[in-house]
Amino acid sequence: MNPPAVGTCSSCRGTGEVTALLCPPGKVTQVPCRDCRATGRIDDARAAEITEGLRRRADRLERGLTQAQEAERLGMDRIAYSRLENPR
Ligand SMILES: [Zn+2]
Repeated sequence: MNPPAVGTCSSCRGTGEVTALLCPPGKVTQVPCRDCRATGRIDDARAAEITEGLRRRADRLERGLTQAQEAERLGMDRIAYSRLENPR
């Protein structure tokens, strides 16, 4: 994912919903867009939050660590660390 631009959400094109695949294969449904939190817009704060998560992930991968290893290094729960990289 590229850093998001402020304005209309590019993931859902401003609708606040995205298409999700279901089982059995071929079935789809609409679900709330996680990137804009179903608002259809990316504001400065949300763009900064997502960009920081992407920066953390790139930095971790550059050091060759898994999320679990990075969480351990920082002394935090793996799920909590994952939320830093993927703020939803
Ligand atoms: Zn969206």
